[in-house]
Amino acid sequence: MNTMEIRIKGVSKHYFSEGKTIKALDNVDLTIPANRIFTLLGPSGCGKTTLLRCIVGLEAPDSGEISIGDEVVWSKEKNVSIPPEKRGLGMVFQTYAIWPHMNVFDNVAYPLQIRKVPRDAIRQRVAKTLRFVRLEGFEKRPATKLSGGQQQRVALARALVAEPKVILFDEPLSNLDAKLREETRKELRTFLGELKITAVYVTHDRIEALVLSDSIAIMRAGRIIEEGSPKKIYFDADHRFVADFIGRANLVKATVLAQEEGYTVVDSGLGSIACQHRDIPTGSEATLCVRPEFIRIAPGGAAGGRNVVNGRVESLVFIGEAYEGEIRVGSELLLARIDPDANLREGDPVSFTLDPAHCLLLSV
Ligand code: ADP
Ligand code: MG
Repeated sequence: MNTMEIRIKGVSKHYFSEGKTIKALDNVDLTIPANRIFTLLGPSGCGKTTLLRCIVGLEAPDSGEISIGDEVVWSKEKNVSIPPEKRGLGMVFQTYAIWPHMNVFDNVAYPLQIRKVPRDAIRQRVAKTLRFVRLEGFEKRPATKLSGGQQQRVALARALVAEPKVILFDEPLSNLDAKLREETRKELRTFLGELKITAVYVTHDRIEALVLSDSIAIMRAGRIIEEGSPKKIYFDADHRFVADFIGRANLVKATVLAQEEGYTVVDSGLGSIACQHRDIPTGSEATLCVRPEFIRIAPGGAAGGRNVVNGRVESLVFIGEAYEGEIRVGSELLLARIDPDANLREGDPVSFTLDPAHCLLLSV
């Protein structure tokens, strides 16, 4: 039974650059569950690669401890530092460093050759791995004669061929074009689902994180600020930064008026709005978060009642599957996703009802 949980305790790392100190990791505590797809998501420069490199052993933290399964692989206090090749990991990088002068077989066989695995065993394991990534029959193909997606699968096969206990990815799809990226992330989801090993995936792409992950940790400025399932992070974030980063969001200033009937009622630029319950004291400042897809403009206007908002269409842009509209409500400008059949024009008055379940209150 593989129980390769990764535990990171109090890990910090700083760099010196141009006379300045950069805190790349700021006291990170994190448990990465075994046999799941775990994603580190955050803006460029927040410390994702540094954290991954510390797990792999390519970087030594300033402090703290890292263990993989039962083994401490790095500890300042205990003076432990296991070298990368002894940590039992496989890694796929952003620039899929496959060797252009080698064919597919040799690229994938390489990690086994340097481990001096017998030739017959190499042949069998390469064949098995190529079957898994659906590159059977490509053994003799020169690496340069592959499509971007196929090259990515060779890189994955090479990371998997030595049967690692943990596989780590650093933005592996960022060099692919949009359509291929979409296909490849679904494929990767399937591959990783079948493997059932601990996978750590680093990206700044929120869609990739939502599609691939069992669990997501959001990083900002060297710290982990929130963790949860994709749905928890998207629909029910605790932090304003997280809600804003994971999807498009309308953020409106609000003041808590009352707690009633399982709702938290706020006063806001949209008027008085009943929101999903949050334990925030009456009178506190908060941020009301409404995603564009939950501003549903009803043809002919909304019926009266709670959470009805009246506004005017300020702009409309056709984006194919929908219109993207800006709706002016007093001093607020809301982004809304509007049905192509809605027959609206710029300047039209509109009204809509906000479902309290999709009115998220954020206090931090
Ligand atoms: P991410 O992968 O999230 O984009 P990184 O972990 O690469 O972020 O970088 C975190 C911070 O540390 C950034 O400010 C980056 O400029 C800095 N940094 C990373 N590596 C080095 C280095 N070798 N020397 C100096 N600064 C570095
Ligand atoms: Mg990076």
